[in-house]
Amino acid sequence: MRLELERRSLRLAQPLQTSYGEVSERELLVVSLTGEDGVTGYGEAAPLEPYDGVSLQRAQAALERYAPVLACAHGLNGAQLVDACRRVDDLSPALAAIDLALWDRAGRISGKPIASLITDTPEPTVPVNATISAIDRSGAAEEAAAAVVDGFECVKVKVGLGDDAGRVASVRAAAGPEIALRLDANGAWGVDEAVRTIEALAPAGLELVEEPVHGLQNVRKVRERVAVRVAIDETAAEHGALGAGVADAVCLKISRCGGIGGLIAAATLVRASGAEAYISSTLDGPFGVAAGVHAAAALASRGPVPHCGLATLALFADIENPLRALGGRIAVPSGPGLGVAPY
Ligand SMILES: [Mg+2]
Repeated sequence: MRLELERRSLRLAQPLQTSYGEVSERELLVVSLTGEDGVTGYGEAAPLEPYDGVSLQRAQAALERYAPVLACAHGLNGAQLVDACRRVDDLSPALAAIDLALWDRAGRISGKPIASLITDTPEPTVPVNATISAIDRSGAAEEAAAAVVDGFECVKVKVGLGDDAGRVASVRAAAGPEIALRLDANGAWGVDEAVRTIEALAPAGLELVEEPVHGLQNVRKVRERVAVRVAIDETAAEHGALGAGVADAVCLKISRCGGIGGLIAAATLVRASGAEAYISSTLDGPFGVAAGVHAAAALASRGPVPHCGLATLALFADIENPLRALGGRIAVPSGPGLGVAPY
């Protein structure tokens, strides 16, 4: 199997402010895998260093180490190929690129969308949230009102940025009482500060607060002290976190789980612990988001999936968005494999 790599740079229409810093551009590695049958599958590595600590150079180095492994691997299935790559360099964002390209290839060979390779009964669409990127009250209110007009039933607001109370109140006022309002602090707070802030924001009506604090023990303490549902995201990378049952929900990422196979396995552990699993992109490109949509559609056939953070391609300035949300849902691509064209 031949591996090829290309760098891509995607500019955001406006910078996204988070408690780990501002993101204005995404650099990704597009991977293609071509078998002896001539069929090519595509994937992408989407590390985000300030968020996951993995640089693009580090991901590229791992992928370059996978190339000879894949070149001389004959007779192995997809999971075995990913395992063979993991043995030379265990780096989730790079393994995800390989996993995606293998699933894409498998879909193209069989003529089926990936969701239909995972389960016989995938849901045709996936519910998604809108992301509010403005950090001023009026800008946030405008985006929230636009999201409602577009049919979204859930909006996500980044917090831990200053003026959280003002922004959250503006979003609630603009979005109306029905919409689910989700906060993401990206671990900005300590335990006491998290409890205080969540209690202060709760009257706005919150669906959940994602990653109020970092660390399983801290999340457990916060959850015991607040009435609002708590989700983990970054903390889900901690050893034993997926089955720990410390949160009401767990946000899973294609990149962190090492691809679709790893994500489905992770979701199974999460659900067995009694928590809900949903999927978000890490500002992934079209291949990563498509992978998330296929995985969510397959998971939804076996239990409820809360709104997913997969409507993120709309945040980019220069690309045609093949996975646009309509009425707050993204349709699962019907073409074979990931179902999105190389970009
Ligand atoms: Mg998050």
